[in-house]
Amino acid sequence: MHAGLVAADGVLDRDTLRAQGRPVFFNNNGIHPGEPEGIDACMALVRDFCLAPERLAALGKTVFLFIPVYNVDGCVNRNSTSRVNQLGPESFGFRGNGQHLDLNRDFIKCDSLAAQVFNRFFTAWDPDVMVDTHTANGADYPYTMTLIPTQPDKLGGGLGDFLRERMLPAIYGDMERRGCPTCPYVNLLGETPDEGIEDFVDLPRFSTGYAALHHTIGFMPETHMLKPFAERVAAMRTLVEVVLDFTVAQAERIQQLRRAARADDARRAQWPLRWRNDHERPARLRFKGYTAVRSPSRLGDYQRLAYDRDQPWEKDIVHFDRCIEEQVVAAPKAYPVPQAWREVIERLEWNGIALQRPDADRLFEAARVYRVLEVGTRASAYDGRMFHDRWCWARTPRPSRRAPATCWCRSTSPGPATPSRPRNRKRTTASSAGASSTACSRRSRPPSRPMSSRTRPCRCWRTSRRCGRRSTRGRPRIRSCCATRRPCTGSCSPTASGMPSRSGGAIRWWR
Ligand SMILES: [Zn+2]
Repeated sequence: MHAGLVAADGVLDRDTLRAQGRPVFFNNNGIHPGEPEGIDACMALVRDFCLAPERLAALGKTVFLFIPVYNVDGCVNRNSTSRVNQLGPESFGFRGNGQHLDLNRDFIKCDSLAAQVFNRFFTAWDPDVMVDTHTANGADYPYTMTLIPTQPDKLGGGLGDFLRERMLPAIYGDMERRGCPTCPYVNLLGETPDEGIEDFVDLPRFSTGYAALHHTIGFMPETHMLKPFAERVAAMRTLVEVVLDFTVAQAERIQQLRRAARADDARRAQWPLRWRNDHERPARLRFKGYTAVRSPSRLGDYQRLAYDRDQPWEKDIVHFDRCIEEQVVAAPKAYPVPQAWREVIERLEWNGIALQRPDADRLFEAARVYRVLEVGTRASAYDGRMFHDRWCWARTPRPSRRAPATCWCRSTSPGPATPSRPRNRKRTTASSAGASSTACSRRSRPPSRPMSSRTRPCRCWRTSRRCGRRSTRGRPRIRSCCATRRPCTGSCSPTASGMPSRSGGAIRWWR
């Protein structure tokens, strides 16, 4: 994996840039190498930075950080068939990496080496704004570009309001002025866009959801697969430049809001663990679409859905553009993590979480221990893991346990990039999963009997993952590239070796 940096004044040392408080704009590409227009757009933009002094100077204090191809394995695994419904290019990479892992589902579990590196890379650079480029599947409509932003409700406070009320309207307006009308990502409520859309709930395993944990404003632009490749590249280039220009102009304000958000979060008494679309507050969205037509399939006994481009329409549709907290927990003073859970500790450290390790056994009072009693598992694995859609837990309210040397982390520790939300909840042990207390510990011996009568009744619930729900017509929802499990394709392009270098040394590569 390569990363590059462009700075107008040639200052490329990360520590120096951070000491100067320089704004960082981050462009990630090729996480799904079958969706390659972002790679080409990024390379073209960097070329212009290298060859056009006025374009470089327009960066001002902001630095342009980029990964041209995040999923290198997938990029070199070329084909022309895994995205047959996509209009070009002639060949493209494969969706998964060398292990067939979808890297845009891997930011939390970090099964791939790429995600492990990315966690540390992102924490070290702490970008203010991120654009992670993609191509969408799904319904046909006139827009070449659609956009998934970090959920403003998840960012919360002034930062969320700024994204919703200032940044998004400015981006959509500027895209329109530059001849590339853009709409929110077409995440269908039913089968066709005229039935309405709702915002994509970007869990932390997705790039924008992960960025939100670092108080970074993230965007997943999704060009439309049925538009010609050259048109998609141009639209992606425009989108990246629009967001970059806004970041350059508003960098000071964005940095100020991020600092305020971190300070506010350090004082929070409660934390949301899960979000869902708010269907109580529908908005109206002016949308341009094509008329849906259905005809009998020649392959089976069903109606085939298509869109007639000779019958365009424009009207207001329902748009659920807000999310609400679905599950909230009280912020604990600390989460203890048994040292046996090295994978958890590593992931916390990669993300800048401050950890303390007791140097002797301790007795913790008033700790709460959660234990997973039962899980419901799907019949098959996905990305090397088993989904637990249903699970039950029990909480012991006041155990006192002797703690052999355990690692434990402070949930409210301040830091430049400290995600304050408890994560890996399903993977942690009972004593660390969702524990909310001053401290806790490992059991000194395994439980020999069921939870005591002090244990609360078991609680079960279904997760709100949208892929498990069905449309009103009883069919699975139509998913776009970032939600479907189908492999995607697309073409890829230049590598670092083909890049021009600027005589002023304003570009640097890492391997
Ligand atoms: Zn994608």
